[in-house]
Amino acid sequence: MSAFDGVIIGAGPAGMAAACAMAETGAAVMVLDEQPAPGGQIYRNVATAPDAALKALGADYKHGLGLVRRFLASGAVYRRGAAVWQVVPGASGGAEPAEIWFSQDGRAQRVTARSVLIAGGAMERPVPLKGWTLPGVMGAGAIQVLLKSHLIPERLVLVGTGPLMLLLAAQCASLGLKPILLDTRPTGALAAALPLLARGLRGHGARYLAKGAWLMARLRLAGVQIISGVTDVVLEGDVKVSGVTYRAGGVTRHLASDLVGLHEGVIPAQQLTRSLGCAHVWDEISTCFRPVADPFGATSVPGILVAGDAGGIGGARAAEHAGRIAAGEMLRRAGRIDATARERMIEWDIREHAAHLALRPFLDRLYAPAAWLAAPADDVVVCRCEEITAGRIRAAARDGAQGPNQAKAFLRAGMGPCQGRICGPVVSQLMAAEHNTGVDAAGYYRIRPPLKPITVGALAAAGRDDHA
Ligand SMILES: Cc1cc2nc3c(=O)[nH]c(=O)nc-3n(C[C@H](O)[C@H](O)[C@H](O)COP(=O)(O)OP(=O)(O)OC[C@H]3O[C@@H](n4cnc5c(N)ncnc54)[C@H](O)[C@@H]3O)c2cc1C
Repeated sequence: MSAFDGVIIGAGPAGMAAACAMAETGAAVMVLDEQPAPGGQIYRNVATAPDAALKALGADYKHGLGLVRRFLASGAVYRRGAAVWQVVPGASGGAEPAEIWFSQDGRAQRVTARSVLIAGGAMERPVPLKGWTLPGVMGAGAIQVLLKSHLIPERLVLVGTGPLMLLLAAQCASLGLKPILLDTRPTGALAAALPLLARGLRGHGARYLAKGAWLMARLRLAGVQIISGVTDVVLEGDVKVSGVTYRAGGVTRHLASDLVGLHEGVIPAQQLTRSLGCAHVWDEISTCFRPVADPFGATSVPGILVAGDAGGIGGARAAEHAGRIAAGEMLRRAGRIDATARERMIEWDIREHAAHLALRPFLDRLYAPAAWLAAPADDVVVCRCEEITAGRIRAAARDGAQGPNQAKAFLRAGMGPCQGRICGPVVSQLMAAEHNTGVDAAGYYRIRPPLKPITVGALAAAGRDDHA
């Protein structure tokens, strides 16, 4: 069977927008997403969410309904519940089609494409605190998922900082919950960010800032308690979390809790781009690695593009524009349009993309994770799968491990079922600190397929193209 013009991994805002832009011009495009419904992180379950949830989650969430409907009607082949576990770049510098391997309904399958767009989104920054492995402690994003589908217990404590944390607190409050927010934003963060504000107000920056102010007002009106300048957080409990101890204003305090949400911003999900060997850089302002890409989203590996949060955190609206920009380039590569037509097609998206990103540097600086979070105490577990502590990683560095890959060999850190997704960013930072070098120089785990669990039986039966 012939190759697709484009295969898109991820049906979030970036992937859906890219698929619409390609399919609506008649191109052959397939979208693979491991979730049971399109929408990605932000618009998860938007088509089936009950009215109360739609109301609580606000206008931004509802915007996704239109995008999901347009995507489903676009003519793109959409495979739900399809987890991509390997992408093999096209041979001869991308002249040959790339292979995309995925599992759906327990069956391993392969498709080929002239271009592959990685629109796999972001993950929450890991927050290695003492006790973070206790049941009842989860990322704030997971609490948001619960909020979108189920009810959550009343004694909820949110620990961290950032716009999504404030948004989650407001969403909880509008459902009648009263979370307590332990804000870890360091004092001095506002002063550090202020020089970036004037530039940030360009484009749609002022609008985002106004939304932030409205969010803060909603939290105040709802009586949500926010405790600022929090440090030294310890999550306590026996079989599950029962409380949080923290320091604020020079005093140590304790809060009882049945559920704790952690959040220190989001970072690009790097497993796919890393497994392909795409070049990455450490972004000092965003405090994370991101893949290197040109203005159209093309990575350092021929035929592989990236869009949306997977390429650098920008939010849902910026992701949509990035998706369409990448789609223009994929159409050009497929020979469906020339460079001039591509410029015409994406002109508006380029402007809007920049406008949505204007405030980003200010936000990244304002909500940069506090330095103490990247330097957990020696007894804090960093690699959750293999139960490797920060102290053992530091000791490995002192014993000669130069970077995360040697730490893997010394300790098995990053060799568990999550394949280093969670501990990777922390291990890189710990190694850099121990060797007194930049995080770029410390590097990251080498990621190898399969990126998702797959049975040997499914692997053995794999190999047929299946475009149905
Ligand atoms: C936990 C969390 C909560 C968030 N909550 C909000 C919010 O409330 N409001 C807000 O404005 N922004 C929120 N954001 C940010 C927002 O979701 C993103 O800015 C936006 O969704 C980015 O869109 P995207 O298309 O790049 O990626 P996403 O929307 O994340 O979509 C990526 C898709 O790729 C799929 N995928 C990834 N890897 C694979 C694979 N190997 N195989 C198959 N499919 C794969 C995923 O299933 C997902 O559907 C949140 C982000 C996170 C991480």
